[in-house]
Amino acid sequence: MPTAITHSVIGASAACCFSSEKKSLKFQILSIVCPVIPDADVIGYLWLHIPYSHFLGHRGFFHSPFFAALLSIFIVSVFYPKEAAFSNQRWKYALYFFLITASHGLADALTNGGRGVALLSPFTSARYFFPWTPIEVSPLSIKGFLSRRGLTVLINEFIWIWIPSFFIVILLKIIRNKNKVSGH
Ligand SMILES: [Zn+2]
Repeated sequence: MPTAITHSVIGASAACCFSSEKKSLKFQILSIVCPVIPDADVIGYLWLHIPYSHFLGHRGFFHSPFFAALLSIFIVSVFYPKEAAFSNQRWKYALYFFLITASHGLADALTNGGRGVALLSPFTSARYFFPWTPIEVSPLSIKGFLSRRGLTVLINEFIWIWIPSFFIVILLKIIRNKNKVSGH
């Protein structure tokens, strides 16, 4: 996995891109938390001894887009109950929370270690990687992360995720400002 901080960076960047409307604190917090939630399966792996390759094991069902869809329905129902069912805004939120949560499994599939991600769970338990895996896999334990390896991983994620995310946000802001100016 990339580190939890890096999954949150993806969410925070997505929050900046979401739209030019004013965003609430609730929205910002959910944007940072949702992309990290799939890694809750590490708890089962490290403390409940659920095998890695199990349906609920690390990088299993919780890392799939299917789970991301369920989580997004849950988030919108609980945190945005006032949005009318099937309204545009509700769909927009549902799609947004789906995408940022699903980004987790996709980012993990770009890492160079572990056993792949069950991207098509629950339909198949096969584990997948992308053909190109530039991201260093992060150690699962905190102890492992606090070693020299943790620093190598962070530098690698900075290059492959933080910097591109930053540029996407800046680029989008420039395009939006331009549209605003030309719209007047
Ligand atoms: Zn993960």
